Amino acid sequence: MYADIAVDAPIPYSRTFSYSLPENCSAEIGQLVWVPFGSRIIQGIIVNLTDTSEVDHTRPIVSTIEPGQLVSSLQVSLGLWISKYYLSPVFNAISLFLPPGFKSKVRSEISSGSQIKSSVNIPPAHYQSALQVLARKHRMKEQDFSKLLGSGGNTALDRLIKTEHIQRHTIIPRSKTHTYESYLVAPDKSQIDAIEDKLSDKQSELLSAVRSQVGPYPTRIANKEFGRSPAVNLVNRGILGLEWVRLEKNPTAGQMNTGYPTDLILTTEQEYAVSNIKQAIINPHSHFRTFLLHGVTGSGKTEVYLRAMAQALEQGHQIIYLLPEISLTPQTVSRLTSRFPGKVALIHSRMKPSERFEQWWGIRDGDYPIVVGPRSALFAPLQNLGLIIIDEEHEWTYKQEFSQPLYDARLVALHLAQLTNSVIVRGSATPDVESYYHALNKHSSSLLELPRRINALNNDGPTNGAEVKICDMREELRKGNRSIFSEALSASLINCIENNHQAILFLNRRGNAPFVQCRDCGHVVTCRSCSVALTFHSTIKKLVCHGCNHKSNAPTTCSTCGGPRIRQLGIGTQKVVEELHDLLPGVSVERCDTDASRSGELPEDTLRRLSEGEIQVLVGTQMITKGLDIPNVTMVGAILADIGLNAPDFRSGERVFDLLCQVSGRAGRGQSPGTVIIQTYEPDNYAIVSAACQDYRSMYDREIQSRLDQGNPPFNQIIQFRFRHLNSTICESNAKNIAQDLKQEITKRGLSDIEVIGPAPGTPQRIRGYYRWNILIKGHNLHQFLSETGIPGQCQIDVDPVHIL
Ligand code: ADP
Ligand code: ZN
Repeated sequence: MYADIAVDAPIPYSRTFSYSLPENCSAEIGQLVWVPFGSRIIQGIIVNLTDTSEVDHTRPIVSTIEPGQLVSSLQVSLGLWISKYYLSPVFNAISLFLPPGFKSKVRSEISSGSQIKSSVNIPPAHYQSALQVLARKHRMKEQDFSKLLGSGGNTALDRLIKTEHIQRHTIIPRSKTHTYESYLVAPDKSQIDAIEDKLSDKQSELLSAVRSQVGPYPTRIANKEFGRSPAVNLVNRGILGLEWVRLEKNPTAGQMNTGYPTDLILTTEQEYAVSNIKQAIINPHSHFRTFLLHGVTGSGKTEVYLRAMAQALEQGHQIIYLLPEISLTPQTVSRLTSRFPGKVALIHSRMKPSERFEQWWGIRDGDYPIVVGPRSALFAPLQNLGLIIIDEEHEWTYKQEFSQPLYDARLVALHLAQLTNSVIVRGSATPDVESYYHALNKHSSSLLELPRRINALNNDGPTNGAEVKICDMREELRKGNRSIFSEALSASLINCIENNHQAILFLNRRGNAPFVQCRDCGHVVTCRSCSVALTFHSTIKKLVCHGCNHKSNAPTTCSTCGGPRIRQLGIGTQKVVEELHDLLPGVSVERCDTDASRSGELPEDTLRRLSEGEIQVLVGTQMITKGLDIPNVTMVGAILADIGLNAPDFRSGERVFDLLCQVSGRAGRGQSPGTVIIQTYEPDNYAIVSAACQDYRSMYDREIQSRLDQGNPPFNQIIQFRFRHLNSTICESNAKNIAQDLKQEITKRGLSDIEVIGPAPGTPQRIRGYYRWNILIKGHNLHQFLSETGIPGQCQIDVDPVHIL
């Protein structure tokens, strides 16, 4: 028997290696094994079993790590697909399914064996020094010991194991399954009177502490306060009782029903959506298995998910509920846990590794039929998946952007659903333009719309949540107002605070590349061939296109209006806070962005203090735009909508629209009407105009046309190659060479549907000392093209990148 094994080594892309299996070894697909690789012993995962080997000489595996499968065959197939599609090593892709932290905690160690002192069986002299080191250290990592044995270390190591001079131990992290805590229980009063005078001071102090405690008294605390002996003594004498209670590790356990009604009468639109989804859940052969639920904020999407989930549970299915970030969407999470008490496992980005590990085993043991979490929740060990919900499906955080594999959870979910015949519901107020395109054209999913807010239907609140005003900052300059705040924004803030309401000021930071804009007419300097804003590079004092790398001089006058006030734009949250202190002396103002959270408080704590009314004005970035529902927030201001608009990325218009719709949705959730003010130098830009009237369709129509014109997704696929180097010349020439190779291949093959763009500098061009250059390829059948021409090395590859920077 032979096994194809994905090994834990930096090897190119989807390659696996063939190993032989020893006679009596019962191995399964998905099992973890130790294998020799070069001169080392490393971990591997079996992805296939065969009777024949592709290569003449195979080495045997060393041993299995776990007695059985840790990863199911279905998960292995999904892992193989991820590896192939995202062009990343198989082991990395499959290890997404391992218990969290498992991979790094599994170790193989060596200690002295039973024959080490035998006078008959003496190991060769040249191993003696290694064995002496081992005897001194008692135990060593297998790799380290193997190094001591010198070249051919692994063979020598195997021989020494056979002769029992040394032995091998595999350290595998195990689930503790349950932890118990003991409590002290107080006796009857009658009993106490009889013994009171026979106790030491410490003992009677402990006794009265236990008696005055309303609930059970933890032994842990008794030991800390009074020392161990009083408790031991009193328990031994039968004066105090001892009780062991199983600790519930599940972070959702003990959450009370937070009073969300369960018996709502669905609106007609909700009813239609729910019945369509339910049908698909009940009938495994139904035509559509994927639904796109497009509903404005507050239109009752969550209620639709909850009903679908109840149906899936009734069918005996399990559910994955994806959210961009749990800590920032506390209200959704508490609705889920209160609707399905005891059934929900939450995966939280700030959970301790040990908690995640325990929870993985809990899910695998079938303790929780519902798993709620960010993109990694997709890899939970569920045996009988039936429904995947993707809430806020437009969020780019569903794409893994930093460590391999750079997967998009939305696409992986689609494949997982196909493998398990599950139903997918993706929902958003501002769907991804690509998903809306597919749903509208009924390619793979069915479109369900909830066009109205629930409270507008019930006439118990403002109809559209908030009144949105666009504020033209060019006018402000003409009026002589040089502050960050327009007159309208200042007045609105003052009014809001006078009424004891709260406000949120939003500043788009991501993609805050310094672009150049005319302060008189709002004209932005863009590239002639790329329709992206040019970025000013202060080092060379030139404007550079981050699409095609074309360089030009920064203009001194505006080409549209001839005005002289053409300059770089960019503001930080810090600056906004400073101006707020001047405008509203004595008002509590706080900042919430990645910088601020690094310096101390967690964003969820800042948001909690906002909802408790402690913070009156909050200034923040994207982070604060998600699921907040605070009735007392009546005013929202977007400081400068243009910043995101001119990021050198073809999705920048769509992103600004999403953000503005979401921030606007934060105002006017309660009884008082809300005001939203969008400050901009480009009041006529389609993204801003359609966000102001919350008109998704008009944004979509403009956007999809420009995608078609520019040949961008969904009409083409994009793959980005990212080059990094400490030396700027090497970085650039690496990128140039690959771009040239790719272009030559395209010409040679006469391919008209693939285009190479760049290389161009990344945004920013240098991070932590590393220079960055990027190449894009755009077109059809890119995977096939790359598999025929060879996948470029020396770079990070991002398939379907969500940021073209
Ligand atoms: P979304 O998820 O689209 O933002 P929610 O599901 O949070 O919307 O609904 C907004 C509010 O309306 C919630 O407080 C919810 O309890 C309530 N709601 C939802 N559906 C109904 C309904 N059919 N009748 C009355 N209230 C509803
Ligand atoms: Zn360009």
